[in-house]
Amino acid sequence: MPDKILVTRSSMPDFEEYAEEIRPIWESHWLTNMGVKHHQLEADLVDYLKVPQIALFVNGHSALECVLEAMGLKGKVITTPYTFASTTHAIVRKGLEPVFADIKPDDYTIDPASVERLIDEDTCAILPVHVYGNLCDVDAIQDIADRHGLKVIYDAAHAFGVWRGDDSSASFGDASMFSFHATKVFNTIEGGAVCFHDASLKTLLNEWKNFGITGPEDVEYVGGNAKMNEFCAAMGICNLRHLDREIAKRKLVAERYWERLDGARGVRLSLPKEGVTPNYAYLPVVFDDDFGASRDDVYDALAEQQVFSRKYFYPLTTDFACYRGRFDSSRTPVARYVASHVLTLPMYADLALEDVDRICDIVLSCARG
Ligand SMILES: *Cc1c(COP(=O)(O)O)cnc(C)c1O
Repeated sequence: MPDKILVTRSSMPDFEEYAEEIRPIWESHWLTNMGVKHHQLEADLVDYLKVPQIALFVNGHSALECVLEAMGLKGKVITTPYTFASTTHAIVRKGLEPVFADIKPDDYTIDPASVERLIDEDTCAILPVHVYGNLCDVDAIQDIADRHGLKVIYDAAHAFGVWRGDDSSASFGDASMFSFHATKVFNTIEGGAVCFHDASLKTLLNEWKNFGITGPEDVEYVGGNAKMNEFCAAMGICNLRHLDREIAKRKLVAERYWERLDGARGVRLSLPKEGVTPNYAYLPVVFDDDFGASRDDVYDALAEQQVFSRKYFYPLTTDFACYRGRFDSSRTPVARYVASHVLTLPMYADLALEDVDRICDIVLSCARG
């Protein structure tokens, strides 16, 4: 039996590099609460992403909840059901009402025309997702937001290291949330960030993520605890040094997949767009009906050979048991179709090209029945 291949594998620095990075933490006994490593990682990221402001968090989900709170949003938020649980849960957990727009069939990001149709007097914000690192139609979305006076907060959890020309994925909208979870292109073990332009938001976010404490004897908000600790920040400092090389290795893997699968009947790939530098975060494939086998058939055939792909995103968040009876996924037919036909194949920097070939052989053999 060949070795197991999982859908992802975390990028890590050499052990010695990390050990060296955490040595000063041992010496100072300063483990969390915005210490030296936290400040350094913020500075490194501002530099890398070319964005004016950043606030680090314990994870991406808390970052998203915190920015919704700090912006003081009330009412309806237009978003997509084609995403990870976090996006919809953050809106609901903050007492806001999600309203679901459909997605575009070519890159699976939110459809601006669908967004515009859903706006009413209670709408306060748009929360789009750069799905698989595919950038949303950021210009059309900004235009809609400007005309209707709405905030735009991007779920950029998939999009770290994606560029449009000289603009990083952190530059768009009022704020962008990143996840630095172990499975993401750039990780801090667990971690996340919000990037933004308005400097006044920085203090607010720092207070909200630390119990709403505003001074030695003052607590002005009912905040939570969502601070990134020094060990996670140190991991980020190390991983950021190697990010470009990791993305270059992912590129080779993605290109091998595309070379093997592009043009196969019923196989839809997500290829990079003109002017965009991708991060090769995921390898989504949509198996249309003329492929000759269902998405579930392909998933099972791979699993039988110890290759573990992921039905991602499936189900739509609007179909989760916890939201039963509350939302109606038949109103987002494109999202519903993609969710039931998509599979993300194994994708990580160290995936061997021979393994990519083996995976593609299994996938293509399904079509021949
Ligand atoms: C990973 C992810 C999140 C949540 O990030 P965590 O760091 O795991 O909390 C949110 N949205 C999307 C689209 C994600 O993929």
